[in-house]
Amino acid sequence: MRFAFFLALTLSAQVAPKGIHPQVKGIVEQVTAERIAGIMKKLESFGSRNTNYDKGNTAAREWIASEFKSFSPRLEVSFDTHHITKQGRIVKDLDLVNVVAVLPGTSQKDHEIIVCAHYDSLNVIRKKDAVPGSGDTTDWVASAEAPNAPGMSDNASGVSLVMELARLMSQQEWQKTIVFIAFSGEEQGLFGSRAYSKAAKEQNRNIDAVFNNDIIGNDYAGDDRRVTDLVNVYSGDPQDSPSRSLARYVREMAERYYPAMKANPVFRGDRFGRGGDHTPFHDLGWAAIRFTTPVENYAYQHSAGDTFEHASPSYAARVVRVNAAAIASLALAPAAPQVMRSNAQGVITGPNLTRGKGYDASLKWTAAQPIDEVAGYFVSVRSTSALYWEREIFVGNITEYVLPNLSIDDIVIGVRSIGKNGIESPVAAYALVSRNFNIPPLP
Ligand SMILES: [Zn+2]
Repeated sequence: MRFAFFLALTLSAQVAPKGIHPQVKGIVEQVTAERIAGIMKKLESFGSRNTNYDKGNTAAREWIASEFKSFSPRLEVSFDTHHITKQGRIVKDLDLVNVVAVLPGTSQKDHEIIVCAHYDSLNVIRKKDAVPGSGDTTDWVASAEAPNAPGMSDNASGVSLVMELARLMSQQEWQKTIVFIAFSGEEQGLFGSRAYSKAAKEQNRNIDAVFNNDIIGNDYAGDDRRVTDLVNVYSGDPQDSPSRSLARYVREMAERYYPAMKANPVFRGDRFGRGGDHTPFHDLGWAAIRFTTPVENYAYQHSAGDTFEHASPSYAARVVRVNAAAIASLALAPAAPQVMRSNAQGVITGPNLTRGKGYDASLKWTAAQPIDEVAGYFVSVRSTSALYWEREIFVGNITEYVLPNLSIDDIVIGVRSIGKNGIESPVAAYALVSRNFNIPPLP
């Protein structure tokens, strides 16, 4: 006990645990509704950014790329092109193009944070003889040709977030690499994000987090409900998935840096019957979450009515500040420690958690990178039925710890690192892995 107390004192002497970091605070404070409004208005001027509508989609992506290039020479800007043949809502063979801007990190260059939104838009034109409620009533060819698909809340708002954070964050250095992406083909079935995430997996990239913003530009619904101080943050199952852990982290950082706005975690992957560009990343095992207004306006969404006039850039700017608090914190935090064991193929085989000599909780984890920037670790504990961590214990700069006389079977335990700069990683939880009964049980 005395030893742990000494470590706690050492930590407080050299860092400010859970303090405000000036670089994070600075980014949050620089976000303005005026800049967000300017980007949204410009994206509206392309008429339609529908994936099938070459004129507007091409002009929009060229503008986004040229803006990225103008922000900083340190942003590595490229087009990520995929040839897609005619299928489903893709009404002709076409080149689908994502716009990518990479801001290389410093001490954790191989750890990436993706900040993304889809730039394509959709104005749904119904089939002439459509019977409402009878399956897919959309005329996808007519929708492809419609020249007026302003897609303002869905999703010029999300693109404005990606572009403005690229501009602000590229003026400074961050430990982790930040990849800003404007995806296309979302409205036809997540074509851009599926192709990009699949390639990233094949390249074995280390993606620590994906922040997908989609429909963050309006603050009132068609039934007149108005919400200005809350944004929904969706994260896929299970309860201690990397995505859920990231959502808890966002809630924490929003409370710390921008308490005027509440990041409201929704513990499900997305809305009923809907999808987004975070989903393919979550399905591949990465931490990926979605931000969406709690008051979607179905009267305007996917129509010619989703205009700047019906949007709220000030609400979007508040959502940008919530994102900024979490993204900037994560970009300066040490990596989370690894608490799970994996085999030679990289398949997770189980938690590094045992009953020790019989009745203890005995924890092991791998040291977080970069080792010389880590001040130590917190062990986090909560009941299995609690949604958020209930207790945190600072245990020092070690990689093994025993909680005596504590059963591992009815609580959740996790570990997070904290940097010498006072910024924490998300919590990595010891998760139950379903047993493979082809493997003989331990004696
Ligand atoms: Zn959307």
